[in-house]
Amino acid sequence: MQLASPSLHPNVEKFLKEPKKLLINGQWVEAANGKTFATVNPATKEVLCHVAEGDAEDIDKAVKAARAALNGPWSKVSPSQRGQLLYRLADLIEQNAEELAQLETLDNGKPIRETSNADVPLTVDHFRYYAGWATKIYGQTIPVSVPNYFNYTKREPVGVVGQIIPWNFPLLMAAWKLGAALACGNTVVLKPAEQTPLSAIRLGELIMEAGFPEGVVNIVTGFGEMAGQPLVEHYDVDKIAFTGSTEIGRLIMQKAAGTLKKISLELGGKSPNIILPDADMSRAIPGALSGIFFNQGQVCCAGSRLYVHKKVYDNVLSDMVSHAQKIKVGNGLLSDTEMGPLVSSEQFSRVTDYIDIGKKEGAQIISAVREEEALEQGYFVTPTVFSEVTDDMTIAQEEIFGPVLAAMPFEDIDDLVERANRTTYGLAAGVWTQDVSKAHRIADRIRAGTVWVNCYNVFDAASPFGGYKQSGIGREMGSYALELYTEVKSVWINIR
Ligand code: NAD
Repeated sequence: MQLASPSLHPNVEKFLKEPKKLLINGQWVEAANGKTFATVNPATKEVLCHVAEGDAEDIDKAVKAARAALNGPWSKVSPSQRGQLLYRLADLIEQNAEELAQLETLDNGKPIRETSNADVPLTVDHFRYYAGWATKIYGQTIPVSVPNYFNYTKREPVGVVGQIIPWNFPLLMAAWKLGAALACGNTVVLKPAEQTPLSAIRLGELIMEAGFPEGVVNIVTGFGEMAGQPLVEHYDVDKIAFTGSTEIGRLIMQKAAGTLKKISLELGGKSPNIILPDADMSRAIPGALSGIFFNQGQVCCAGSRLYVHKKVYDNVLSDMVSHAQKIKVGNGLLSDTEMGPLVSSEQFSRVTDYIDIGKKEGAQIISAVREEEALEQGYFVTPTVFSEVTDDMTIAQEEIFGPVLAAMPFEDIDDLVERANRTTYGLAAGVWTQDVSKAHRIADRIRAGTVWVNCYNVFDAASPFGGYKQSGIGREMGSYALELYTEVKSVWINIR
């Protein structure tokens, strides 16, 4: 276990010195109630800095600023200029990549090798991808059968959009939300997760530096009930885009009903990862490991249910355990750390409670090394693999959102597909086989928004992501996200 803390980028030190404020109408302001909350480094339990704790009053100011920007300066910015602003933002993120990666690692705990090689570069790509879309949002001319009428459609911004994001990929989730919304010409009130507000605040500074007009992006930090809920209920917000737990997603759908807002939801998962006996095990085993242990297992599409064909089950599991035990767990700031701490004390309790439930229900832990010294320091949970799991056990049904794998054998493919689908979720799945026909057949029958074949956790800004069933509503990324952020207007002209 590695726990030393390497030195920080001078800009990060400077950023952490001052309490952080809300971004409303282009100004950094304190919360109206004057309150702040502490954000904590989960590797050390030390307070990183204090952040303004926004509530309904701040949300109202932010929504008013977003509405004024939508009707005023932002409506005069051409699609090409919107694209240029998004390109400029992407460049600024790239120029400040090291600082952003460190902030993300400090606030969330995830390894610096991931924030540097995944979170920050994917964020840059994401803004560049949507910068390109700003000039390509078309309507249609419609060949209507009514004589002497010309009919066409336009795609217009939905309006003021409230965006609520989780803590597992704080910067990247902000990018997934902002990229498409801004490319389509909306204005935004963003509510970051209370556990990880820092990278979104730094992003806000870069948004202003890029030259976005005041009020186009407003950032209100704070807690779910105090800041998130008033945003969902606000009469003048046209749409809510939410990423987070299925439980809160359900609540958001109910609260949004009062004003009949449009909603898109990216929620939880319990994704099956399936290894057939003919799989190339040199790829399947590391793939299944990173499928569950990437980001400490705090990934909505984590391959948390591993189905391995009975013929190869014992060998696959023993190889997985020996690999899992070599994963370097420690302070995410160290360059060779492969797994950091969980994000918070609540998340630590939630995951360790699930481990206890798994044991009580009769599953067997075949890999987990807990080092007491490290546990005292931060919220570390080492990679945990359960065998002797049955499909109806809690650890095979509920989203744990931590580094805990439930492994189960299978024999028959029809039975396997039925078991893989026997969940309320439908976010993602993985299939490992060298038989291309089997891969396609299984991919066809899995009810999930993404199926990875001989790979896992592959993302690209151009490819849609989202859930079937209780894993969500709508698709982010790619051209699909444009549908979330535009209204279609049909215009009829009498040409008689
Ligand atoms: P969460 O639902 O507790 O919180 C998410 C956000 O919602 C936070 O900003 C929080 O402050 C806010 N919130 C909480 N209560 C609210 C309320 N009453 N009204 C409005 N906002 C409220 O989720 P979390 O624990 O931060 O994140 C983990 C969850 O997110 C997991 O279930 C995971 O699967 C899911 N997730 C899904 C995706 C996806 O794309 N499908 C991506 C990342 C995470």
